[in-house]
Amino acid sequence: MASRADLSAPLAAAAGDLVRIAHELWQRGLVQGTSGNLSARLDDGSVLITPTGCAFARLTPGDLVHLAPDGTARGEGHPSVERPLHLAAYRARPDVRFVVHTHPVFCTVWACRGQLFPRDTVAANESLAPMAWTPFHPSGSVALADAVAAALAGGAPLALMENHGLIAAHADIDTAFVQTDLAEACAEVAYYAALWGPRA
Ligand SMILES: [Zn+2]
Repeated sequence: MASRADLSAPLAAAAGDLVRIAHELWQRGLVQGTSGNLSARLDDGSVLITPTGCAFARLTPGDLVHLAPDGTARGEGHPSVERPLHLAAYRARPDVRFVVHTHPVFCTVWACRGQLFPRDTVAANESLAPMAWTPFHPSGSVALADAVAAALAGGAPLALMENHGLIAAHADIDTAFVQTDLAEACAEVAYYAALWGPRA
């Protein structure tokens, strides 16, 4: 993508949001290595998305890839392999402006257990948004994109992807970040509570 100084104001603002949240996700340990991908949808229907193979700690606005409304990349750069997932989420939910996809450890543990984690805490009951479940399909596949789109179309802002990770889709990127952070905290509590066994 062009340098931030060359971008239109909405594109520069979206780029700033994505880079800020990428760094916060890294600092909170919600992404590891080069996992995770983020995107923003602009008013013209185009999408700004993180590149493939990028550690969020080092992400800069110039690394982001601008996609035309039909999903084709504009200019340089290679978009995330999960581009179909992001585009499908936007098609399914006209209200969504940001998609945050991560592999937080405890959410992923539950994803590998084949179930949503139980919501036995006040935080999980009162503050965590509804979460849908999606069956396993390979990364980057249209089948995965379709499964997640179908789950999000039901209205849930969160979906746990079997043997994979978490997706948060929202009109506001800070809410998507906070829900990702909270989902991981709730998944961690539920994991340790389950480990301890049934309550006496
Ligand atoms: Zn993933």
